[in-house]
Amino acid sequence: MPVLDERLVPIFEEVLSRNPGEAEFHQAVREVLESLGPVVTKHPRYADSAVIRRLCEPERQIIFRVPWVTDNGKTEVNRGFRVEFNSALGPYKGGLRFHPSVYLGIVKFLGFEQIFKNALTGLPIGGGKGGSDFDPKGRSDAEVMRFCQSFMTELYRHIGEYTDVPAGDIGVGSRELGYMFGQYKRITNRYESGTLTGKGLSWGGSQVRTEATGYGTVFFVDEMLKTGRSGLDGKKVVVSGSGNVAIYAIEKVHQLGGTVIACSDSGGYVYDPEGIDLNLLKDIKDVQRDRISDYALARGPKVSFVPNGSIWDVPCDIALPCATQNELDADGAASLIRNGCQIVAEGANMPATPAAIRLFSSAELRFAPAKAVNAGGVATSALEMQQNASRDSWTFEYTQDRLAEIMRSIHDRCLETADEYGSPGSYVAGANIAGFTRVADSMLALGVI
Ligand code: GLU
Repeated sequence: MPVLDERLVPIFEEVLSRNPGEAEFHQAVREVLESLGPVVTKHPRYADSAVIRRLCEPERQIIFRVPWVTDNGKTEVNRGFRVEFNSALGPYKGGLRFHPSVYLGIVKFLGFEQIFKNALTGLPIGGGKGGSDFDPKGRSDAEVMRFCQSFMTELYRHIGEYTDVPAGDIGVGSRELGYMFGQYKRITNRYESGTLTGKGLSWGGSQVRTEATGYGTVFFVDEMLKTGRSGLDGKKVVVSGSGNVAIYAIEKVHQLGGTVIACSDSGGYVYDPEGIDLNLLKDIKDVQRDRISDYALARGPKVSFVPNGSIWDVPCDIALPCATQNELDADGAASLIRNGCQIVAEGANMPATPAAIRLFSSAELRFAPAKAVNAGGVATSALEMQQNASRDSWTFEYTQDRLAEIMRSIHDRCLETADEYGSPGSYVAGANIAGFTRVADSMLALGVI
């Protein structure tokens, strides 16, 4: 493990002791602290002012009971979370995740990441995250609606256009956001569009928001390729996952001339050498809510389904982990390197383990972290907030151009910052330092609050 700067060691030890058992949160904090040594050397004010200690402590953590009744009349009890991590740059902003693995440590890791990601967009949004251990899989629409209504019956008192603006994440898409926005509107008697993002187009949503995380990921990769005077044309790409991020990453890769040859879900991966048939994938995943194995069945013998296999064994030029945290470990990284992969860019949040990232940095391969790569989703949420505030709606083309420009500027800022702090070419250092300095400078200006 890389050594931490001695001024940062006590801060990390404090995070470990004050947040026991929250492995993902520890991982996310350590990853940022590992980049900050040169920053506290160059600008001791960050170490002296305790700004880093304050950054590691959420401004507010809300945990609540979410009771709801199944179609059979049984009462279920889930746990709801909202961690309002940092509001130095704007209202807390970040998604809600509904997945059985959700607990406080996951929400805190996501909220912590979100602070720096949101800062990198250059837009006025703070960092937060929330969710529940509710599993929407296999639940009827009516059950999902009752759950969402119960969840919002508590959450509504903590959020608002100037306070905290949730959106989607794993398990939360336009169906769930619709039920939550409806309940918020009913309880508050306010059509306050700017209180949630990722809304449907007919009720205050923005063009491109659905596509934004996947499209933004690929725009970022395109910028990486441009620095080597290359492009996506003819490239073979592997995309893990088959949810919102994966689907729109695949779409943009195909639009820019690359071919996505494999994607996955928690049951395994499909290998489709001619390129993933996106209409079929969308129908199976978005409409039918079925499994990726059904994709292989529908495509016939030229497509293989590998149950429980590692998608990182598929040789490719570019790998885009777009499923979930820690899905790409050292074995997967070694396999990608062995097969000559040139770029790994994180579409999901923290999908590569620290051991995988260490392997990437000692190899030829170029690695770009989630904070920078997948910031297009939240950036477009901020564009949705702009449209809501001005009661306007922009065209698809205009919004997509804004997204592409934001991704270009994040990419360039990462490389410039990495250069400035002595780690040329490191997107990890660049993203962490550029995100950190923007937030930390605002925190210093706002005083000890
Ligand atoms: N959940 C997304 C993310 O990880 C989007 C958050 C948002 O749009 O607020 O960045």
